[in-house]
Amino acid sequence: MSSNPDSPASIRRRGGLIVISAPSGAGKSTLLGRLMNQVDTLEYSISYTTRAPREGEQHGREYFFVSVEEFHRRRERGEFLESAHVHGNFYGTSKHYIEDQLAQGKDIVLDIDVQGATMVSQIMPQSALIFIMPPNFAVLEKRLRSRGLDQAEAIARRLHNAREEVRRFRQFHFVIVNDNLDDATQALISIVHAERSRWRRSEHILRNIVSTFEGGHQ
Ligand code: ADP
Ligand code: 5GP
Repeated sequence: MSSNPDSPASIRRRGGLIVISAPSGAGKSTLLGRLMNQVDTLEYSISYTTRAPREGEQHGREYFFVSVEEFHRRRERGEFLESAHVHGNFYGTSKHYIEDQLAQGKDIVLDIDVQGATMVSQIMPQSALIFIMPPNFAVLEKRLRSRGLDQAEAIARRLHNAREEVRRFRQFHFVIVNDNLDDATQALISIVHAERSRWRRSEHILRNIVSTFEGGHQ
């Protein structure tokens, strides 16, 4: 919007939250990677977790990896917008980061679990909630195994949790079935663009446009 030279730089669209949840292995990280590559000006909220880093993961890139003690300390200080116990570990979203980015008019992507998504929609009802659904249970199991990141026990726990998570798709505004990866990517990108066109996101800009139609001169 600021590409119009007549628009003061201070007039920007409001930032918003794009919350994405999925059962583990559904393809959320893959889709998010593609979304972040293809859509500019999206910020990614890096969560805090007590989970041990997987091979290749870096502190401050995928997560802020902290001890259970530090996690609880931060939670008690009110530093999390929401937090949850997922697959045996704690995860939390930084309230400071979200508030700071929203104040700058940024759109922020949150990759959080179903409980966290429900919490965020209560705290910030304007958030867009997207659920990534695997094509079926057998495909999910295959993806989790072929990814090769988790031990058999962790995979069993994630599959067990998936049975509950997929039943909660009605808590989301959008559901993308991640069967064909390119189709699912396009659907995700389209939703993000559509969310940005909500009039509430740019009401002040629209009011300015409408004001140019007032005054009766032509
Ligand atoms: P999540 O982040 O939801 O746990 P990942 O993005 O790590 O899941 O995907 C799990 C595995 O499934 C990865 O090996 C990934 O390459 C694969 N995958 C993701 N989406 C698809 C798809 N549409 N078709 C086939 N394989 C996929
Ligand atoms: P993983 O350990 O596979 O990276 O993530 C496990 C689950 O925790 C995923 O469903 C992921 O979306 C979720 N998760 C990651 N960060 C957060 C967070 O800050 N809050 C909540 N509630 N869930 C999170």
